[in-house]
Amino acid sequence: MKVSILDQPSEILTQTVTLTTNKDKPDNLFLFHCYHCGTGIQRIKGNVVRIGAGITLPQSVMTFQQCHRCKENYTFQIVHMKAPTAIKLTLTPQVEGGVSTFHCIICRQPVLQYTLEKAVKLPKMTPIIPPSLFACTQCGKIYLLNDVVSLVV
Ligand SMILES: [Zn+2]
Ligand SMILES: [Zn+2]
Repeated sequence: MKVSILDQPSEILTQTVTLTTNKDKPDNLFLFHCYHCGTGIQRIKGNVVRIGAGITLPQSVMTFQQCHRCKENYTFQIVHMKAPTAIKLTLTPQVEGGVSTFHCIICRQPVLQYTLEKAVKLPKMTPIIPPSLFACTQCGKIYLLNDVVSLVV
C-alpha cells in the first residue's frame, strides 16, 4: 500500500521507525516485526535508532507499510548517526483504555505490557517508570522506554 504522506500529513497516524546504517555490519539484515502483534512487516538493513508515534520529516521517508494483521502503520526513515545500543521507544496504546503488549521488533517476543498510565515488564509484571531501560528476555535487544502517548485527537 502506497500513501502520499506529503499531501495529507495530518490524516495518517503512523509509527515512525528511524534507521541508521550499521557501519560494522553493513549487510546486517533483519525482519522488522509489528510491535503490537509481532507480525513481520519488512526486511530492514541496518539498525533501528528509535520508534515513535506520529509523523516526522516526511522528506526523508523511505517506505510506508501497514501491518496486515492489526493495521498499524509504519513509516521507515533513514538518518546518519552512530547506532545507539538501546532502541528509543515512544509507544502508543493499541487499544484505547485497554492493556497493550509490546513485542520485540527483532524476535517478536512479548516484552512489555502498558497503558497510558503504567508499564510492566514481562514475564514477572515488574513495573517500570519511563524513561527506563529494559532488555528483550529472548534475544537480549535493549530498549529505552521513553514515553507512552495517545495519538487520538
Ligand atoms: Zn500488527
Ligand atoms: Zn527479542
